[in-house]
Amino acid sequence: MTIDYRSDTFTRPTPGMLQAMAEAETGDDVFGEDPSVNRLEAMMAEFFGKAAGLYCPSGTMSNQVAIKAHTLPGDEVICGHQAHVYIYEGGGIAFNAGAQVHPIHGERGMINAAEVAAAINPDDVHKARTSLVCLENTSNRGGGCCYDWEEMVKIKSICEEHKLALHLDGARLFNALIATRQDPKAYGGVFDTISVCLNKGMGCPMGSVLLGSEAFIREARRIRKKFGGGLRQAGYMAATGIYALENHLQRLEQDHIHAKQIANALLEKTFTGHMLPVETNILIFEVIGSWNPISFAEHLIREGIKVMPISSTQVRMVTHLDITPEMVARTCEVIEGMA
Ligand SMILES: *Cc1c(COP(=O)(O)O)cnc(C)c1O
Repeated sequence: MTIDYRSDTFTRPTPGMLQAMAEAETGDDVFGEDPSVNRLEAMMAEFFGKAAGLYCPSGTMSNQVAIKAHTLPGDEVICGHQAHVYIYEGGGIAFNAGAQVHPIHGERGMINAAEVAAAINPDDVHKARTSLVCLENTSNRGGGCCYDWEEMVKIKSICEEHKLALHLDGARLFNALIATRQDPKAYGGVFDTISVCLNKGMGCPMGSVLLGSEAFIREARRIRKKFGGGLRQAGYMAATGIYALENHLQRLEQDHIHAKQIANALLEKTFTGHMLPVETNILIFEVIGSWNPISFAEHLIREGIKVMPISSTQVRMVTHLDITPEMVARTCEVIEGMA
């Protein structure tokens, strides 16, 4: 048995999810005729208080479609210097949208209203036109931390004042909702667009949904087609999203409990250096003293446990649907046994 904490993208469809796929009603989604895709898009839009949704193969595509739709070439996008859209999407902002990034520092991947205000360019021919602000919630490189509601509202009012669009990379927005008990519909009021992954904690094999106004999603659908993301019988996959919404949302709480249990075991050990506060399903911690991230990961592999070194000093572990309480107990035992 391997216990894989490298990412919450490693989940396999459950028997219930496979059955939902087998029974899915499908059609050609490029023609708008896949009932399962249409239903998933409508369910997600309703859940987050937006008018319309667009099913995309990946979170990267839904972010990139949104950024392309919100900007013109030469524009500037404000986001955190550790934002997924900036550091993990292959330079897509430049490649797909021809826009440039104004990265700001923030803390644990979260940026604040004052920094956003300071980063907006004046109306000056020397400067790129600032047109979009992107937030990420939960923040991946921030160790799965969750934005304060008030900070997001403040950023929204700055965006309104300067006529900037506000996009949320909500790859793990469901984790944030479960951890903070924030109202999903209120998100629709603050953000112009939201991308939400189904292929992470929700346990689907693929897929993300981009949410926005009717007019925005109509344009986004055209861009998705240009990106090669118009799928035919995508309903087999969308059915996994519907199944996950109905069955896997509340259980995210369990992943968060597991992450805290592992954190507690690690914090007992002298080889655990600074650990980012564990708010959801991600642990990011320094490995110091007699171990380093590579030797630590190699030791755990011999015990059947996979973790991910993410820098010369840090390791990341992520809990998810395929991690059971027994696996967490075993992991804590192995950690306790390490000198
Ligand atoms: C995983 C992730 C994405 C992109 O998701 P893919 O479906 O893997 O393309 C976007 N943003 C964040 C914060 C992520 O963690």
